[in-house]
Amino acid sequence: MSIPTITLNDGHTIPQLGLGVFLMDPGITQKHVAFALANGYRHIDTAASYGNEQEVGRAIAESGLQRDELFVTTKLWNDRQTDAPAALAESLDKLGLDYVDLYLIHWPTPKFDTYLDAWHSMEGLRADGLARSIGVSNFHEKHLRRLIAESDVVPAVNQIEVHPTLAQFDLIAVNDELGIATEAWSPLGRKADLDNEVIVRIAERQGKSPAQVILRWHIQRGNIVFPKSQNPDRLKQNFDIFDFELSDDDVLAIDGIGGENRVGPDPETFNRH
Ligand code: NDP
Repeated sequence: MSIPTITLNDGHTIPQLGLGVFLMDPGITQKHVAFALANGYRHIDTAASYGNEQEVGRAIAESGLQRDELFVTTKLWNDRQTDAPAALAESLDKLGLDYVDLYLIHWPTPKFDTYLDAWHSMEGLRADGLARSIGVSNFHEKHLRRLIAESDVVPAVNQIEVHPTLAQFDLIAVNDELGIATEAWSPLGRKADLDNEVIVRIAERQGKSPAQVILRWHIQRGNIVFPKSQNPDRLKQNFDIFDFELSDDDVLAIDGIGGENRVGPDPETFNRH
C-alpha cells in the first residue's frame, strides 16, 4: 500500500501517516516499532524525552530497510535549547543514525525564552546534513512569527495537538499562511474522541472503526498523523485507512464537532525542564 506524502517547504517529502511512540515503554518499543515497520509503516515520531530512541534505533537496524525508505523524527527537549548540537548528537547516537529526517523544538517554553537560540543552532544542524528538515512543536502564532522574523529558515512543520474536539482551525490557518505543514499530535485525542456520537455514526455507516474515521478526517484535511498504538491489531487498523473516503458532508460534520478539549499541556504555560 502506498502512503500519501506531503512535500515540505524545503522540498523534502514526509509520509502523511506514521507511528508515534510517546508513552511507549522502552521495554516494548523495539518489538512494536519492528512490527510496525514489518507491516508497512515508514515514519516514526519519537523524542529525546520519550526515553526510547535507542529502542526505536534497534528496530530500524533489524528491519533491513534502507535508510532512505524511512522517515525518522526526534525532538529537542526543553532543557537543551541552548545546547542543541550536543543534544542532537546524543539522539543520533541512540538512534544509530547519521541524520534524522526531521528535528523539532519540542515546546516553546516561554518562561525560558531560549527557542531562538535553539533555532539558530538547528539552522546549522540542517546545513551540516544532520537534520534534513527542521521544525517546531507546540508553537503558537506569536512564537512562529517571531522565529521567522529573526531567522533565515521557516520551520518545515509545526507539530501541535489536533483532534476533532480540539480542531485548531485558526492555528492551522496560520501554519498554512506561513507555508508550514501541520502535524497533528494525539490525533485520536488519546482515545477521548473515539466515542463522540458524530464519529461513531459515521464509523457505523462506513463499516470502519471510530479511530479509522478520525484518522481519515486528518488525512483529508491535510494533517500529518502518527497515532500511537502498542496493540498489533490496532496498529494495523490505524494503517488501513486508504480504502475508503469521507464525503465532504462527513468531513464538515466532524469539523463541526467543536470544543477546546486539550488532552496535553497548554504551550503558553508549559515550561517543564
Ligand atoms: P493518540 O491520539 O495517538 O492516542 C493513543 C491512544 O489511543 C493509546 O491509548 C492507544 O492505545 C489508543 N489507540 C490507538 N489506536 C487505537 C484504535 N485504533 N482504537 C482504539 N484505541 C486506539 O495519542 P498520543 O498522545 O500517543 O499521540 C500520538 C503521537 O503524537 C505520540 O505518540 C507522539 O509521537 C506525538 N505527541 C507529540 C507531542 C508533542 O508535544 N509534540 C505530545 C503528545 C504526543 P493502545 O496503545 O493500547 O492501542
